[in-house]
Amino acid sequence: MSAFSPDSNGFYGEFGGAFIPEMLYPNVQELQQNYKVIIDSKDFQEEFRMLLRDYVGRPTPLFYSKNLSEMFDTNIYLKREDLTHTGAHKINNTIGQILLAKRLNKKEIIAETGAGQHGVAVATTCALMNMDCTIYMGEIDIQRQGPNVEKMRMLGAKIVAVNSGSKTLKDATNEAIRQWINNPVDIHYIIGSVVGPHPYPDMVSIFQSVISEEIKFQLKEKTGRENPDCIIACLGGGSNAMGAFYHFIGDKKTRLIAVEAGGKGVYSGKTAATIALGKKGIIHGSKTYLIQTEDGQIVEPHSISAGLDYPGIGPAHSYLHDAGLSEVVNVTDDEALSAAFTLSQKEGIIPALESAHALAYLSKVKFKKDDIVVVNLSGRGDKDMLTYKKHLGL
Ligand SMILES: *Cc1c(COP(=O)(O)O)cnc(C)c1O
Repeated sequence: MSAFSPDSNGFYGEFGGAFIPEMLYPNVQELQQNYKVIIDSKDFQEEFRMLLRDYVGRPTPLFYSKNLSEMFDTNIYLKREDLTHTGAHKINNTIGQILLAKRLNKKEIIAETGAGQHGVAVATTCALMNMDCTIYMGEIDIQRQGPNVEKMRMLGAKIVAVNSGSKTLKDATNEAIRQWINNPVDIHYIIGSVVGPHPYPDMVSIFQSVISEEIKFQLKEKTGRENPDCIIACLGGGSNAMGAFYHFIGDKKTRLIAVEAGGKGVYSGKTAATIALGKKGIIHGSKTYLIQTEDGQIVEPHSISAGLDYPGIGPAHSYLHDAGLSEVVNVTDDEALSAAFTLSQKEGIIPALESAHALAYLSKVKFKKDDIVVVNLSGRGDKDMLTYKKHLGL
């Protein structure tokens, strides 16, 4: 099932690998040795597919956006991950990982969260699967993301406030990893994107690859061909982009465009455009591009959207970019806000701010009239209403 995989040590070219403290070797090796066999087993596939269908609500629709198509004079389809249970693609991964954790006899789940979307997806799946759940979240994010914090608590998760560093996602991830080191036997750590040590990037890619699997057959049904001319997805850690790209990687018929958060502008000092500025380094267990100073200190990223506010990208995206297999671009906070407004008023769909970055790129590139362009609408915008209200004068 893995059309695009790293080598046996988790490297995509020079990127990836597993740079971890020795205390984590047993746990990470257990995952490395077992994840493929478990995921490929009939029993796992049956349960995973059943839950994606009946609990998550897959396949998500591939919607022909007539109004955007007219506006941009091409053919635009929206892959509606915003219509999944909990409102974003993240649940595809949490369902897969919890089924894996059960089969490895883990007793407890921990996870990090930034905006809270991953935390809500983890808390949701833990409730469904009757697992203890602890979520690590930066103090600043706890203050910014009230509604998601309340949801996680209602779902029965314990939330631990992280007060180190900038008190946001990167620090929450560090703290979750520390806890994992303290009890690697009973705990499974559910990472929320295609980041972290091998096998996480590959494992999360496989779980999210259902998105491009569906795009293929849905597009074939609607247009008679499997390949769009272009797929556009926003790039934070890179899981929704990897899911939307996966089955098209290396296929020259389809351009793969990943849109990073430019923040207030790539050279403003307030940005999360990793490829535009990043240098090679190691973050959270893998080698990839990340935004850092000359002497290797990680620079605090900025994006108006909490889900893209991460100083690195998954190692597979670093590889795809350097190999010329994807294009990585960026749009600013203001461009994303404006695109969110456009989609809301043209199609009656309020997108997540993250997804709005992918939409914003539509106005920066000229497609041919008969091109087929798929935009991955990674999530819905309910969580962003306060930001929309503040910035759009509602
Ligand atoms: C978390 C999130 C993202 C960014 O994460 P990726 O791993 O890059 O996909 C994008 N969109 C939404 C709606 C999210 O919740």
